Amino acid sequence: MSELKKTITPLYGMLTKTSDAEPVIVRLTQNRDPSSTDNLAYLVQKDEKNIPLGFDTYVVPDHCTETLPSLNNDKRVTYELPQSLSYLHEGDVIRINPRGGEISVIYRHHSPSNSLFLTEQCNSRCVMCSQPPKIQPDSELAEACLEAIPLIDPETEELGLTGGEPTLLDEKFFEILDACKRHLPNTAIHVLSNGRLFNYLSYAQKLAEIDHPDCVIGIPIYSDLAWEHDFCVQATGAYDQTIRGILNLARCGIRIELRVVIHSYSATRLLYLAEFITRNLPFVEHVALMGLEPIGFGKTNLDALWIDPVDYQADLEIAVSRLVEAGMNASIYNHQLCILPTHLWPFARQSISDWKNVYLPECEKCAFQDRCGGFFHSSMRKYSKSIKPIETVLPEHEIIL
Ligand code: SF4
Repeated sequence: MSELKKTITPLYGMLTKTSDAEPVIVRLTQNRDPSSTDNLAYLVQKDEKNIPLGFDTYVVPDHCTETLPSLNNDKRVTYELPQSLSYLHEGDVIRINPRGGEISVIYRHHSPSNSLFLTEQCNSRCVMCSQPPKIQPDSELAEACLEAIPLIDPETEELGLTGGEPTLLDEKFFEILDACKRHLPNTAIHVLSNGRLFNYLSYAQKLAEIDHPDCVIGIPIYSDLAWEHDFCVQATGAYDQTIRGILNLARCGIRIELRVVIHSYSATRLLYLAEFITRNLPFVEHVALMGLEPIGFGKTNLDALWIDPVDYQADLEIAVSRLVEAGMNASIYNHQLCILPTHLWPFARQSISDWKNVYLPECEKCAFQDRCGGFFHSSMRKYSKSIKPIETVLPEHEIIL
């Protein structure tokens, strides 16, 4: 296995000490004199002198707590960051759980890839699920999101709402979406949902009543055949629910994206699925054809799911052409440029979230690394045999990215 060029950005770490205090969700700041310090934690810099004393909570770089006598004497609450989270900045939102000694990053101000994790519960068990569901109650996750949303920069361009299956939260899901509308009116919201609960028209109507100005529901679909989709999501009847859900959402004026994860089961019907979409779901605003993320069940089932992406390029080409000919908006996610035919490059997006996006050492020699989406960190387990640096710069007329 090759060595990675980049490492992932951790979103979780351990405090150096535990303590008996309630969990807090705070925005980090280096503003020494904010109008209010509510829900703010002062982010101390290494070797910083004259630390302002008006905050309840301080987050300090690792190995610095002993060197902060002014804070210690005042018995203010200080939490020491692990080295792995030393990248945290002004404006980032974190959750500190002092008893468990955990610190988790909810929002990174400088990142274009922020998602709120609403629940770990799900009514499907997709064979490639990157976030396998849990059955234990986890309402604290949604509560944490509600607490975090007002702390997020309102100029954030895009925010994902994900799970698990967010719609299982019922009223709390609508509450969270409404909170996004009120606190982040300029932020595009992308909800990842299996769409099954929108099978009930009243549920789609409730979503429409929120009247969010910029919200898209991203719904996975794996086949034009009901039984094959149901197999992929391991839930009998799911296909019918999802298709009815999509139709109900459209009926209520909700914007929809379809997401097709390509693996050994879905690859065989890719052309038929594209045809099915153009004929039956032409109103969706975007179709994303996505490479597999081999983590979670995607890792457990990798041997069964694996198909080298280079082996389905011909079908991918036809599927994209079919969607485009029908006037639909198609994109290719999670694929490396060197395995795509050049005329598919205009559809390839740098879609992998920055915190888990890596490149191979051989990518250093590639003339297109800055435009290539690279790999999931978890893809290092298995990736295409056809990865090869593109060493020549193509004539401009051949490619527009
Ligand atoms: S070699 Fe180039 S095109 Fe291939 S994965 Fe690396 S950066 Fe992307």
